[in-house]
Amino acid sequence: MANGCCTSDSNETLIFACAGAAHSGQVSSRAGIGLAKEGAGNLFCIAAMGAEIPDKMNRAHIAGKRVVIDGCEDHCARKIMEKASLPVEVHVDVTRFGIEKKPEKPQLINDARCVVDEVWTLLTAAS
Ligand code: SF4
Repeated sequence: MANGCCTSDSNETLIFACAGAAHSGQVSSRAGIGLAKEGAGNLFCIAAMGAEIPDKMNRAHIAGKRVVIDGCEDHCARKIMEKASLPVEVHVDVTRFGIEKKPEKPQLINDARCVVDEVWTLLTAAS
């Protein structure tokens, strides 16, 4: 079970989404929200890792698992984690499911569901 928003411990799973401007970036954000709602972990701020906010960096370092969802092959979120020397236990690039950055007919809910299911599978395998 995920912890509340103001707690931190080594059993915590943190979920980072690139939350990019493109449809696929928004899918990453929506998937992160969905995963948090389903109890996979706590949604956390990738921007705070880039900005090196001390208390948030500390919480990210002591977390048990870090899930990173990127909206395209640029892997911005994963690279921010690397620069912050934060390990990533589960990484997903949503374009590997055929989700386009700028589709003609965006399917935000369906696309996010696909990503959520994949992350659950990877999290189960990683535990
Ligand atoms: S990974 Fe892609 S979608 Fe996400 S912020 Fe970077 S460029 Fe934008």
